[in-house]
Amino acid sequence: MIKAFKDAIPILEKMEDAGFEAYFVGGAVRDYLLEKPINDIDIATSATPEEVKAIFPHTIDVGIAHGTVMVVWNHYTYEITTFRTESTYVDYRRPEQVFFVRELKEDLMRRDFTINAMAMDKKGHIIDYFQSQNALSKKEIKTVGNPNERFQEDALRIMRGIRFVSTLGFQLEDETLKGIVDNKHLLSKIAVERVTMEFEKLLQGQWCSDALVILLATKMHLYLPMLESAEKGISKLAEIPLFKLTLTEKWIVLLLCIGIKDKQHIEVFLRSWKLSVKQIKNTQKIIYWILEREKATCWSDQMLYFATLSVAISAEKVYQLLWNQENNPIISTLEEQYIKLPIKSKEELVIGGNDLLHWTNKQAGPWIKEILSLVETKVVERIIPNDKQLIKEWLIECHQI
Ligand code: ATP
Ligand code: MG
Repeated sequence: MIKAFKDAIPILEKMEDAGFEAYFVGGAVRDYLLEKPINDIDIATSATPEEVKAIFPHTIDVGIAHGTVMVVWNHYTYEITTFRTESTYVDYRRPEQVFFVRELKEDLMRRDFTINAMAMDKKGHIIDYFQSQNALSKKEIKTVGNPNERFQEDALRIMRGIRFVSTLGFQLEDETLKGIVDNKHLLSKIAVERVTMEFEKLLQGQWCSDALVILLATKMHLYLPMLESAEKGISKLAEIPLFKLTLTEKWIVLLLCIGIKDKQHIEVFLRSWKLSVKQIKNTQKIIYWILEREKATCWSDQMLYFATLSVAISAEKVYQLLWNQENNPIISTLEEQYIKLPIKSKEELVIGGNDLLHWTNKQAGPWIKEILSLVETKVVERIIPNDKQLIKEWLIECHQI
Protein backbone atom coordinates (compact mmCIF):
# COMPACT_ATOMS: atom_id res chain seq x y z
CA MET A 1 0.00 0.00 0.00
CA ILE A 2 1.23 3.52 -0.71
CA LYS A 3 2.11 5.97 2.04
CA ALA A 4 -0.96 8.19 1.61
CA PHE A 5 -3.21 5.23 2.45
CA LYS A 6 -0.91 3.85 5.16
CA ASP A 7 -1.04 7.21 6.92
CA ALA A 8 -4.81 6.98 6.98
CA ILE A 9 -5.08 3.40 8.28
CA PRO A 10 -5.31 4.54 11.94
CA ILE A 11 -8.51 6.38 10.99
CA LEU A 12 -10.11 3.19 9.69
CA GLU A 13 -8.87 1.34 12.77
CA LYS A 14 -10.31 3.87 15.17
CA MET A 15 -13.67 3.65 13.45
CA GLU A 16 -13.61 -0.14 13.52
CA ASP A 17 -12.64 -0.10 17.20
CA ALA A 18 -15.74 1.99 17.81
CA GLY A 19 -17.82 -0.73 16.14
CA PHE A 20 -18.25 0.72 12.66
CA GLU A 21 -17.15 -0.24 9.18
CA ALA A 22 -14.85 2.12 7.28
CA TYR A 23 -13.22 1.90 3.85
CA PHE A 24 -11.25 3.94 1.38
CA VAL A 25 -13.51 4.70 -1.60
CA GLY A 26 -13.86 6.60 -4.85
CA GLY A 27 -11.23 8.21 -7.03
CA ALA A 28 -8.32 7.50 -4.69
CA VAL A 29 -8.82 3.72 -4.90
CA ARG A 30 -9.22 3.97 -8.68
CA ASP A 31 -6.08 6.06 -9.12
CA TYR A 32 -4.11 3.85 -6.73
CA LEU A 33 -4.93 0.75 -8.79
CA LEU A 34 -4.00 2.67 -11.94
CA GLU A 35 -0.71 3.61 -10.29
CA LYS A 36 -1.49 7.28 -10.79
CA PRO A 37 -0.87 9.99 -8.23
CA ILE A 38 -3.90 10.18 -5.95
CA ASN A 39 -5.76 13.35 -5.04
CA ASP A 40 -7.76 13.37 -1.86
CA ILE A 41 -8.53 10.25 0.15
CA ASP A 42 -12.23 9.71 0.73
CA ILE A 43 -13.47 7.36 3.40
CA ALA A 44 -16.93 5.81 3.58
CA THR A 45 -18.32 4.50 6.84
CA SER A 46 -21.36 2.95 8.47
CA ALA A 47 -21.11 5.58 11.24
CA THR A 48 -23.38 8.62 11.06
CA PRO A 49 -21.75 12.07 11.03
CA GLU A 50 -22.52 12.48 14.74
CA GLU A 51 -20.89 9.13 15.45
CA VAL A 52 -17.83 10.14 13.42
CA LYS A 53 -17.57 13.39 15.36
CA ALA A 54 -17.70 11.51 18.64
CA ILE A 55 -14.70 9.40 17.61
CA PHE A 56 -12.30 12.12 16.42
CA PRO A 57 -11.23 15.14 18.46
CA HIS A 58 -10.68 17.41 15.47
CA THR A 59 -13.42 17.53 12.84
CA ILE A 60 -14.88 20.16 10.56
CA ASP A 61 -18.51 20.18 9.42
CA VAL A 62 -18.32 20.37 5.66
CA GLY A 63 -21.54 18.72 4.57
CA ILE A 64 -23.38 17.14 7.46
CA ALA A 65 -26.64 17.08 5.48
CA HIS A 66 -24.94 14.91 2.86
CA GLY A 67 -23.25 12.85 5.54
CA THR A 68 -19.76 14.28 5.19
CA VAL A 69 -17.47 15.24 8.03
CA MET A 70 -13.89 16.32 7.53
CA VAL A 71 -11.44 14.75 9.95
CA VAL A 72 -8.11 16.40 10.62
CA TRP A 73 -5.52 13.74 11.35
CA ASN A 74 -1.75 14.27 11.59
CA HIS A 75 -2.03 17.55 9.66
CA TYR A 76 -3.94 15.94 6.79
CA THR A 77 -7.66 16.18 6.17
CA TYR A 78 -9.91 13.31 5.17
CA GLU A 79 -13.54 13.44 4.10
CA ILE A 80 -15.51 10.78 5.89
CA THR A 81 -18.95 10.17 4.42
CA THR A 82 -21.67 7.98 5.86
CA PHE A 83 -22.84 5.15 3.61
CA ARG A 84 -25.83 6.62 1.84
CA THR A 85 -28.29 6.28 -0.97
CA GLU A 86 -29.82 9.11 -2.89
CA SER A 87 -33.26 7.92 -3.74
CA THR A 88 -35.42 10.89 -4.59
CA TYR A 89 -34.20 12.87 -7.53
CA VAL A 90 -36.07 15.99 -8.45
CA ASP A 91 -35.73 17.59 -11.86
CA TYR A 92 -32.64 15.53 -12.75
CA ARG A 93 -30.55 17.16 -10.09
CA ARG A 94 -28.72 15.64 -7.17
CA PRO A 95 -31.17 15.56 -4.26
CA GLU A 96 -30.90 17.80 -1.26
CA GLN A 97 -31.87 14.96 1.03
CA VAL A 98 -29.92 11.75 1.39
CA PHE A 99 -30.65 8.56 3.24
CA PHE A 100 -28.02 7.05 5.44
CA VAL A 101 -27.64 3.29 5.25
CA ARG A 102 -25.46 0.79 7.08
CA GLU A 103 -24.43 -1.28 4.04
CA LEU A 104 -21.30 -0.59 2.02
CA LYS A 105 -22.78 -2.17 -1.09
CA GLU A 106 -25.70 0.26 -1.16
CA ASP A 107 -23.27 3.14 -0.92
CA LEU A 108 -21.14 1.85 -3.78
CA MET A 109 -24.25 1.28 -5.86
CA ARG A 110 -25.13 5.00 -5.89
CA ARG A 111 -21.73 5.95 -7.29
CA ASP A 112 -21.50 7.05 -10.91
CA PHE A 113 -19.14 4.71 -12.76
CA THR A 114 -17.89 1.25 -11.93
CA ILE A 115 -14.28 2.48 -11.85
CA ASN A 116 -15.34 4.84 -9.04
CA ALA A 117 -17.38 2.28 -7.13
CA MET A 118 -14.70 0.23 -5.39
CA ALA A 119 -13.74 0.20 -1.75
CA MET A 120 -10.49 -0.81 -0.11
CA ASP A 121 -10.14 -1.97 3.47
CA LYS A 122 -7.29 -1.26 5.86
CA LYS A 123 -5.39 -4.35 4.68
CA GLY A 124 -5.51 -3.24 1.06
CA HIS A 125 -8.18 -5.74 0.01
CA ILE A 126 -10.34 -4.43 -2.79
CA ILE A 127 -14.10 -4.79 -2.46
CA ASP A 128 -15.45 -4.97 -5.96
CA TYR A 129 -19.18 -5.64 -6.47
CA PHE A 130 -19.49 -4.23 -9.98
CA GLN A 131 -16.55 -5.66 -11.91
CA SER A 132 -14.72 -2.43 -11.42
CA GLN A 133 -11.26 -3.96 -11.74
CA ASN A 134 -12.32 -5.57 -14.99
CA ALA A 135 -13.41 -2.12 -16.22
CA LEU A 136 -10.07 -0.67 -15.15
CA SER A 137 -8.16 -3.27 -17.14
CA LYS A 138 -10.41 -2.74 -20.15
CA LYS A 139 -10.05 1.03 -19.71
CA GLU A 140 -13.80 1.36 -19.73
CA ILE A 141 -16.14 3.96 -18.28
CA LYS A 142 -19.43 2.26 -17.50
CA THR A 143 -22.25 3.42 -15.26
CA VAL A 144 -23.13 1.41 -12.18
CA GLY A 145 -26.45 0.01 -13.36
CA ASN A 146 -28.68 1.30 -16.14
CA PRO A 147 -27.14 4.36 -17.83
CA ASN A 148 -30.50 5.98 -18.59
CA GLU A 149 -31.59 5.77 -14.99
CA ARG A 150 -28.27 6.93 -13.67
CA PHE A 151 -28.02 9.92 -16.00
CA GLN A 152 -31.64 10.85 -15.31
CA GLU A 153 -30.98 10.74 -11.57
CA ASP A 154 -28.09 13.16 -11.86
CA ALA A 155 -27.26 14.53 -15.30
CA LEU A 156 -23.90 15.82 -14.12
CA ARG A 157 -22.71 12.24 -14.56
CA ILE A 158 -22.91 12.84 -18.33
CA MET A 159 -20.29 15.52 -17.94
CA ARG A 160 -18.26 13.41 -15.54
CA GLY A 161 -18.23 10.52 -17.99
CA ILE A 162 -16.61 12.63 -20.63
CA ARG A 163 -14.19 14.26 -18.24
CA PHE A 164 -12.92 10.81 -17.24
CA VAL A 165 -12.25 10.19 -20.95
CA SER A 166 -10.03 13.25 -20.75
CA THR A 167 -8.30 12.55 -17.44
CA LEU A 168 -7.89 8.78 -17.75
CA GLY A 169 -7.79 8.18 -21.49
CA PHE A 170 -10.53 5.54 -21.13
CA GLN A 171 -13.35 4.73 -23.57
CA LEU A 172 -17.04 5.05 -22.79
CA GLU A 173 -18.71 1.64 -22.80
CA ASP A 174 -21.30 1.35 -25.59
CA GLU A 175 -24.48 1.49 -23.48
CA THR A 176 -23.04 4.31 -21.39
CA LEU A 177 -22.21 6.26 -24.54
CA LYS A 178 -25.74 5.67 -25.82
CA GLY A 179 -27.08 6.85 -22.47
CA ILE A 180 -25.11 10.07 -22.89
CA VAL A 181 -26.48 10.62 -26.40
CA ASP A 182 -30.06 9.97 -25.25
CA ASN A 183 -29.92 12.12 -22.12
CA LYS A 184 -27.51 14.93 -22.99
CA HIS A 185 -30.32 17.51 -23.04
CA LEU A 186 -30.64 17.06 -19.27
CA LEU A 187 -27.31 18.83 -18.88
CA SER A 188 -29.10 22.14 -19.18
CA LYS A 189 -30.88 21.38 -15.89
CA ILE A 190 -27.68 21.14 -13.91
CA ALA A 191 -26.25 23.99 -11.83
CA VAL A 192 -23.66 25.67 -14.05
CA GLU A 193 -21.03 25.70 -11.28
CA ARG A 194 -21.07 21.90 -11.16
CA VAL A 195 -20.82 21.66 -14.96
CA THR A 196 -17.94 24.14 -14.97
CA MET A 197 -15.98 22.15 -12.38
CA GLU A 198 -16.16 19.05 -14.54
CA PHE A 199 -15.50 20.98 -17.77
CA GLU A 200 -12.36 22.47 -16.26
CA LYS A 201 -11.16 19.00 -15.30
CA LEU A 202 -11.89 17.96 -18.89
CA LEU A 203 -9.79 20.84 -20.22
CA GLN A 204 -6.93 19.82 -17.95
CA GLY A 205 -6.92 16.14 -18.82
CA GLN A 206 -4.14 14.53 -20.83
CA TRP A 207 -6.66 13.14 -23.32
CA CYS A 208 -8.58 16.40 -23.67
CA SER A 209 -8.67 16.17 -27.48
CA ASP A 210 -10.35 12.75 -27.38
CA ALA A 211 -12.91 14.05 -24.92
CA LEU A 212 -13.66 17.07 -27.11
CA VAL A 213 -14.16 14.82 -30.13
CA ILE A 214 -16.71 12.79 -28.14
CA LEU A 215 -18.32 15.97 -26.85
CA LEU A 216 -18.96 16.93 -30.46
CA ALA A 217 -19.92 13.46 -31.65
CA THR A 218 -22.54 13.17 -28.90
CA LYS A 219 -23.62 16.79 -29.50
CA MET A 220 -23.30 17.54 -25.81
CA HIS A 221 -22.04 21.00 -26.70
CA LEU A 222 -25.60 21.95 -27.62
CA TYR A 223 -26.43 21.96 -23.92
CA LEU A 224 -23.33 23.67 -22.56
CA PRO A 225 -23.27 27.42 -21.87
CA MET A 226 -22.88 29.42 -25.09
CA LEU A 227 -21.37 26.49 -27.01
CA GLU A 228 -24.51 25.66 -29.03
CA SER A 229 -23.05 26.95 -32.25
CA ALA A 230 -19.39 26.42 -31.49
CA GLU A 231 -18.94 23.15 -33.36
CA LYS A 232 -16.18 24.42 -35.64
CA GLY A 233 -14.36 26.14 -32.82
CA ILE A 234 -14.45 23.04 -30.65
CA SER A 235 -13.07 20.86 -33.46
CA LYS A 236 -10.30 23.38 -33.89
CA LEU A 237 -9.62 23.27 -30.15
CA ALA A 238 -9.46 19.47 -30.29
CA GLU A 239 -6.53 19.74 -32.68
CA ILE A 240 -4.44 22.02 -30.51
CA PRO A 241 -2.01 20.51 -27.99
CA LEU A 242 -3.02 22.19 -24.76
CA PHE A 243 -0.67 20.37 -22.35
CA LYS A 244 1.67 23.22 -21.57
CA LEU A 245 -1.05 25.76 -20.87
CA THR A 246 -2.51 26.84 -17.56
CA LEU A 247 -6.25 26.51 -17.06
CA THR A 248 -6.77 30.22 -17.81
CA GLU A 249 -4.76 29.89 -21.01
CA LYS A 250 -6.91 26.91 -22.02
CA TRP A 251 -10.08 28.95 -21.57
CA ILE A 252 -8.44 31.62 -23.73
CA VAL A 253 -7.63 29.18 -26.51
CA LEU A 254 -11.25 28.01 -26.40
CA LEU A 255 -12.48 31.61 -26.63
CA LEU A 256 -10.20 32.40 -29.56
CA CYS A 257 -11.10 29.16 -31.36
CA ILE A 258 -14.76 30.09 -31.21
CA GLY A 259 -13.99 33.62 -32.34
CA ILE A 260 -14.55 35.54 -29.12
CA LYS A 261 -12.01 38.33 -28.76
CA ASP A 262 -13.70 41.51 -27.60
CA LYS A 263 -13.96 42.49 -23.98
CA GLN A 264 -17.73 42.52 -23.74
CA HIS A 265 -18.20 39.20 -25.47
CA ILE A 266 -15.54 37.55 -23.30
CA GLU A 267 -17.39 38.72 -20.22
CA VAL A 268 -20.76 37.42 -21.40
CA PHE A 269 -19.26 34.05 -22.30
CA LEU A 270 -17.29 33.53 -19.10
CA ARG A 271 -20.16 34.78 -16.96
CA SER A 272 -22.38 32.16 -18.53
CA TRP A 273 -19.90 29.62 -17.13
CA LYS A 274 -20.01 31.48 -13.78
CA LEU A 275 -16.31 32.27 -13.71
CA SER A 276 -15.27 34.89 -11.17
CA VAL A 277 -14.87 38.59 -11.98
CA LYS A 278 -11.15 38.21 -11.27
CA GLN A 279 -10.82 35.38 -13.79
CA ILE A 280 -12.82 37.33 -16.36
CA LYS A 281 -10.67 40.47 -15.96
CA ASN A 282 -7.47 38.46 -16.22
CA THR A 283 -8.72 36.69 -19.35
CA GLN A 284 -9.71 39.99 -20.97
CA LYS A 285 -6.29 41.41 -20.23
CA ILE A 286 -4.41 38.45 -21.68
CA ILE A 287 -6.55 38.39 -24.84
CA TYR A 288 -6.02 42.14 -25.26
CA TRP A 289 -2.26 41.58 -25.18
CA ILE A 290 -2.44 38.60 -27.54
CA LEU A 291 -4.07 40.92 -30.08
CA GLU A 292 -1.44 43.60 -29.46
CA ARG A 293 1.28 41.00 -29.85
CA GLU A 294 -0.23 39.97 -33.15
CA LYS A 295 0.20 43.52 -34.46
CA ALA A 296 3.81 43.86 -33.27
CA THR A 297 6.84 41.85 -34.32
CA CYS A 298 7.98 41.34 -30.73
CA TRP A 299 7.41 42.62 -27.21
CA SER A 300 8.57 46.20 -26.81
CA ASP A 301 9.63 47.27 -23.31
CA GLN A 302 6.53 49.39 -23.15
CA MET A 303 4.22 46.51 -24.02
CA LEU A 304 5.91 44.26 -21.50
CA TYR A 305 5.72 46.90 -18.78
CA PHE A 306 2.05 47.66 -19.26
CA ALA A 307 1.05 44.03 -19.74
CA THR A 308 3.10 42.81 -16.71
CA LEU A 309 5.29 39.72 -16.96
CA SER A 310 2.75 37.01 -16.15
CA VAL A 311 0.19 38.40 -18.61
CA ALA A 312 2.84 38.75 -21.32
CA ILE A 313 4.02 35.17 -20.81
CA SER A 314 0.47 33.83 -21.06
CA ALA A 315 -0.24 35.98 -24.09
CA GLU A 316 2.96 34.87 -25.80
CA LYS A 317 2.33 31.18 -25.08
CA VAL A 318 -1.15 31.33 -26.60
CA TYR A 319 0.02 33.53 -29.48
CA GLN A 320 2.77 31.06 -30.42
CA LEU A 321 0.44 28.11 -30.13
CA LEU A 322 -2.21 29.64 -32.37
CA TRP A 323 -0.28 31.73 -34.87
CA ASN A 324 3.33 30.83 -34.86
CA GLN A 325 4.22 27.29 -35.80
CA GLU A 326 7.96 27.70 -35.36
CA ASN A 327 9.40 27.01 -31.99
CA ASN A 328 10.20 30.51 -30.96
CA PRO A 329 12.33 30.64 -27.79
CA ILE A 330 10.99 34.07 -26.89
CA ILE A 331 9.22 33.03 -23.68
CA SER A 332 12.40 32.63 -21.64
CA THR A 333 13.79 35.87 -23.03
CA LEU A 334 10.67 37.75 -21.94
CA GLU A 335 11.68 37.21 -18.35
CA GLU A 336 15.18 38.54 -18.99
CA GLN A 337 13.74 41.53 -20.82
CA TYR A 338 11.38 42.20 -17.94
CA ILE A 339 14.15 42.08 -15.32
CA LYS A 340 16.03 44.73 -17.30
CA LEU A 341 13.10 47.17 -17.44
CA PRO A 342 14.10 50.52 -15.88
CA ILE A 343 11.00 50.40 -13.64
CA LYS A 344 8.42 47.70 -13.00
CA SER A 345 5.59 49.93 -11.76
CA LYS A 346 4.57 53.56 -11.33
CA GLU A 347 5.62 53.39 -7.68
CA GLU A 348 9.23 52.97 -8.74
CA LEU A 349 9.30 56.35 -10.51
CA VAL A 350 11.58 58.69 -8.55
CA ILE A 351 9.19 61.59 -8.96
CA GLY A 352 5.62 62.04 -7.74
CA GLY A 353 2.86 64.64 -7.83
CA ASN A 354 4.46 66.65 -5.05
CA ASP A 355 7.64 67.17 -7.06
CA LEU A 356 5.61 68.53 -9.97
CA LEU A 357 3.71 70.93 -7.68
CA HIS A 358 6.97 72.03 -6.09
CA TRP A 359 8.68 72.61 -9.46
CA THR A 360 5.79 74.55 -11.02
CA ASN A 361 3.86 76.33 -8.26
CA LYS A 362 0.76 75.40 -10.26
CA GLN A 363 -2.54 74.30 -8.75
CA ALA A 364 -3.06 70.56 -8.43
CA GLY A 365 -5.25 69.10 -11.18
CA PRO A 366 -5.61 66.35 -13.77
CA TRP A 367 -2.41 67.61 -15.47
CA ILE A 368 -0.36 65.91 -12.74
CA LYS A 369 -1.62 62.48 -13.69
CA GLU A 370 -1.04 63.20 -17.38
CA ILE A 371 2.55 64.30 -16.84
CA LEU A 372 3.31 61.39 -14.54
CA SER A 373 1.98 58.98 -17.19
CA LEU A 374 4.11 60.66 -19.82
CA VAL A 375 7.21 60.41 -17.63
CA GLU A 376 6.39 56.80 -16.82
CA THR A 377 6.25 55.88 -20.52
CA LYS A 378 9.43 57.79 -21.34
CA VAL A 379 11.32 56.15 -18.49
CA VAL A 380 10.15 52.71 -19.61
CA GLU A 381 11.22 53.50 -23.18
CA ARG A 382 14.61 54.65 -21.76
CA ILE A 383 14.17 58.12 -23.27
CA ILE A 384 14.75 59.61 -19.84
CA PRO A 385 16.59 57.89 -16.98
CA ASN A 386 14.70 57.41 -13.72
CA ASP A 387 16.54 60.31 -12.10
CA LYS A 388 14.85 63.27 -10.44
CA GLN A 389 17.10 66.00 -11.81
CA LEU A 390 17.18 64.59 -15.33
CA ILE A 391 13.42 64.15 -15.41
CA LYS A 392 12.96 67.75 -14.29
CA GLU A 393 15.36 69.02 -16.99
CA TRP A 394 13.59 66.93 -19.65
CA LEU A 395 10.16 68.24 -18.65
CA ILE A 396 11.38 71.84 -18.82
CA GLU A 397 13.08 71.23 -22.13
CA CYS A 398 9.90 69.80 -23.62
CA HIS A 399 7.81 72.63 -22.16
CA GLN A 400 5.78 70.21 -20.14
CA ILE A 401 6.19 72.25 -16.98
P1 ATP B 1 -10.87 13.10 -9.00
O1 ATP B 1 -9.70 12.24 -8.87
O2 ATP B 1 -10.83 13.97 -10.19
O3 ATP B 1 -11.23 13.84 -7.73
P2 ATP B 1 -13.08 11.44 -8.26
O4 ATP B 1 -13.62 10.18 -8.87
O5 ATP B 1 -12.47 11.32 -6.90
O6 ATP B 1 -12.09 12.07 -9.28
P3 ATP B 1 -14.88 13.30 -7.05
O7 ATP B 1 -15.71 14.36 -7.65
O8 ATP B 1 -13.81 13.68 -6.07
O9 ATP B 1 -14.26 12.47 -8.24
O10 ATP B 1 -15.89 12.28 -6.37
C1 ATP B 1 -15.50 11.26 -5.46
C2 ATP B 1 -16.33 10.01 -5.66
O11 ATP B 1 -17.72 10.29 -5.39
C3 ATP B 1 -16.34 9.46 -7.08
O12 ATP B 1 -15.23 8.61 -7.31
C4 ATP B 1 -17.66 8.72 -7.15
O13 ATP B 1 -17.57 7.48 -6.50
C5 ATP B 1 -18.56 9.61 -6.30
N1 ATP B 1 -19.29 10.64 -7.08
C6 ATP B 1 -18.91 11.89 -7.33
N2 ATP B 1 -19.82 12.56 -8.05
C7 ATP B 1 -20.84 11.70 -8.27
C8 ATP B 1 -22.09 11.79 -8.93
N3 ATP B 1 -22.48 12.90 -9.54
N4 ATP B 1 -22.87 10.68 -8.92
C9 ATP B 1 -22.49 9.55 -8.31
N5 ATP B 1 -21.33 9.40 -7.66
C10 ATP B 1 -20.50 10.46 -7.64
MG1 MG C 1 -11.76 13.06 -5.70
